[in-house]
Amino acid sequence: MNIDTPAFLPTPEPVLEVERLGDEIAVLCAHLDAATARLLDLIREFDARGGWNTGFLSCAAWLSWRVGLDRGAARERVRVARALGTLPRLAQALARGELSYSKVRALTRVATPETEERLLAVGKAGTAEHVERIVRGWRLVDRQAEARETARRHAIRALHVYQDEDGMVVIRGRLAPEVGAVLVQALAAARETLYQRARSMDAEDGFAETPTMAQQQADALALVAETALHHGIDPGAPGERYQVVVHVDAPVLADADAPGQSVLKDGAHVSSGTAQRLACDATRVVMRHAPDGQVMEVGARTRTIPPALRRALDHRDRGCRFPGCGLPFGQGHHIRHWAQGGPTTLSNLALLCRRHHRAVHEEGYEMDRQPDGELSFRRPDGRLVPEVPPPAAVPRDPVHALRAQHDAHGLHLHARTAMPGWLGERLDVGWAIDVLHPLAASTQ
Ligand SMILES: [Zn+2]
Ligand SMILES: [Zn+2]
Repeated sequence: MNIDTPAFLPTPEPVLEVERLGDEIAVLCAHLDAATARLLDLIREFDARGGWNTGFLSCAAWLSWRVGLDRGAARERVRVARALGTLPRLAQALARGELSYSKVRALTRVATPETEERLLAVGKAGTAEHVERIVRGWRLVDRQAEARETARRHAIRALHVYQDEDGMVVIRGRLAPEVGAVLVQALAAARETLYQRARSMDAEDGFAETPTMAQQQADALALVAETALHHGIDPGAPGERYQVVVHVDAPVLADADAPGQSVLKDGAHVSSGTAQRLACDATRVVMRHAPDGQVMEVGARTRTIPPALRRALDHRDRGCRFPGCGLPFGQGHHIRHWAQGGPTTLSNLALLCRRHHRAVHEEGYEMDRQPDGELSFRRPDGRLVPEVPPPAAVPRDPVHALRAQHDAHGLHLHARTAMPGWLGERLDVGWAIDVLHPLAASTQ
């Protein structure tokens, strides 16, 4: 059937044939979009249930490894999948093949449950290019609103300190979220220090009553202030601030089950696996202690992996060697730990990112170098983690299978399912945003 062609001019057969081809493309695209909706549902559930958390950094990293998507596309799928969890109308439109994945992708960058309905109408009426332009304009309004909000918060920051009639000092304030987070963290650290001090004093004195949380916070603030003044209000270099010093008994480094201990500078214990990981690629100072704990001898500071070897390792491995990871920077891991007599040589070293270094030392993942020089990784349950997983089984006629599945679900797609309502008029993005965006009016 062809409505546009006058009846007296029969359409030549080749033109009809090409039109049928076009219709077939449109129908299949609608089916693929509907199937993509299902795919995103599965990804959302897999992500929420942490199914990727088997040695992978993120759901996107897992997707990229398992189905061969490039990183950017994998991240985008996960983002859209999560967004659709709160946008049921857009999700349904994709599942019914009425809105293409490209449009849904663009719309989920700005849609909220409040604006979803209006944006869905934009998606249905416009072409993919219109949608893209509207979304860009929309984001600009969002960003302007966000910048105004940030400026407002910055302007109303305040701290009032005054003395009450009884001489107590009263503090009231409003801090920007990131500044507040630093304060909360500092108070928590100070409370912890005070708690440890109190505990060791309790052991001497017998008992003491536990202060309330508000009292603990007041004590913590005092400690934070004292500490700040004591250090000349110097936040220090970032490296120093987060440096961790571990004292570890030599037998523990060689064998995680050996008696002995690993303690942080402040006395907190760490697991032997953690101590081994930190020692794997670190600056090391060997101290010998006499039986009574006195330090008898202090060795020179050495890197466990010398700089030249480190460069060779970076050059050979180029990033984390864990299957599917490849982060471009990492720590040198001794496949057989140096404390167990493993040599610091290229063949006994492999680059691992922080996350995966933890996986092999503390989470039961095993790695070995095979006789052919390749690395093999195993999950804690002994199953191999292949470098490239085997492809999924695909039916002989995947298009037929897809249609049959959609038919079975009562989804009948045709060549005009995803057609935009646009009739060719010029798109005025500014006007469209003014009409659609809830915040646009307030900027005028
Ligand atoms: Zn290691
Ligand atoms: Zn890694």
